[in-house]
Amino acid sequence: MKSLEQLCRKNIWNLAPYSSARNEYAGREARVFLDANENPYNTPFNRYPDPLQLELKAAISKVKGVPAENIFLGNGSDEAIDLPYRSFCEPGIDNVVAIEPTYGMYKVCADINDVEYRPVLLDEQYQITAEKLLAATDDHTKLIWLCSPNNPTGNNLHREEIVKVIESFEGIVIVDEAYSDFSSQTPLRTELAKYPNLIVLNTMSKAWGCAAIRLGMAFASEEIIGIFNKVKYPYNVNQLTQQQALEALKDPFEVDKWIKILLEERSRMVDAFKLLPICEKVFPTDANFFLAQMTDATKIYNYLVDKGIIVRNRHRIQLCQNCLRVTIGTKTENGELIAALRQYQ
Ligand SMILES: *Cc1c(COP(=O)(O)O)cnc(C)c1O
Repeated sequence: MKSLEQLCRKNIWNLAPYSSARNEYAGREARVFLDANENPYNTPFNRYPDPLQLELKAAISKVKGVPAENIFLGNGSDEAIDLPYRSFCEPGIDNVVAIEPTYGMYKVCADINDVEYRPVLLDEQYQITAEKLLAATDDHTKLIWLCSPNNPTGNNLHREEIVKVIESFEGIVIVDEAYSDFSSQTPLRTELAKYPNLIVLNTMSKAWGCAAIRLGMAFASEEIIGIFNKVKYPYNVNQLTQQQALEALKDPFEVDKWIKILLEERSRMVDAFKLLPICEKVFPTDANFFLAQMTDATKIYNYLVDKGIIVRNRHRIQLCQNCLRVTIGTKTENGELIAALRQYQ
C-alpha cells in the first residue's frame, strides 16, 4: 500500500479542520454551557449534538465487534461513499475502479466530484477476478469499489478475490457490506486489523430497519477515520438520529428475528418465482432481495405498478436484461406480489 499521505489529497492532508465549541471542551464535568451561542431554552433540542457520536459508537462497537476508534458514522452510507472521493481523489486527475453492475451511488459521487469512474464488467455468474480489476487501475487509481453481497445482483463476491484485491492494490479498497446481515459469509469488518487499506461500509437502512434515520458507517484504520472526521460536516449525525439508533441497538435480537423471517420468506419467494411461467431465471442471492429474469421485465413491471405493487425494473442495467429486483417484504406483501404475477397473462 502507498502511504496515506501519498493517497490523500494535499489540501485535505494539510487541512486544519473546523473546531467547534464542543470539540474544544472535552470531558470533565460541566454545568453551565455558555460556549456555543445556543439558546438556553427548548431542551433537549437547543444543544448541538456530539460531533463524534461517542456514546453511539460505543454501542455500535459492541454489536459490530469493531473498536470505536475504527468507526466513522455518517448521514447514511451516502456520506461514507462521498467522503473517500473528497478525501483521496483529485478532481480531473485521479480515478476509481468499480465492479459493474453495482450500486449507483459510487458513480454518482464520482461524477459529482469530477473523478473518472472505471467500471469493470462482472462475468455471467456476477463474479470478478482480482486480476481483471487490477488491470483497470493505473498510477492515478485511488479507490476500488466492491459491494458484497452486491446490489442489484444479490450475490456475494468470492472472498478469495476480494482479499487478493485488498492485498495487491496500492490504493484503498472499499467493500460495501450493506447486506452482510443477510449472508452466511463472515463479514470483512472482522478482519479490519489485517488490512490498513480497507474500508468496510455498513448501514442501519437494511437489516436494522432504520432507513428513515439516515445512519451509515465506515469501518477503517484509525488514520483513515481521522481523515474522514476532518472532512465531514461538524454535526453530520443529528441528535434525533443518534438517539433513535441507540434505541434500535438495544435490541439486536429483534433484528435477528427479522432476518430469520426475511430469509425464510426469501426462499419461499424464490421457489414461487421459479414456478412462474413468466420467470426465466432466479439468480442466487445472499441479500434481502433477489434478481429475477423475466420474459418481459418492463411489461410485467408496468402491470405490477397498475396493481399498486412496485418492484425495481433493472432491464436497462448491463447484464440484467429483463431483470426485476424484488425486495423481500412482509408475508402479506410477498403473497400479494406472487398472486398478481400468477394472474399475469
Ligand atoms: C441500500 C444500500 C446502501 C444504504 O445506503 P444508506 O445511505 O445507508 O441508506 C448502501 N449500499 C448499498 C449497496 C445499498 O444497496
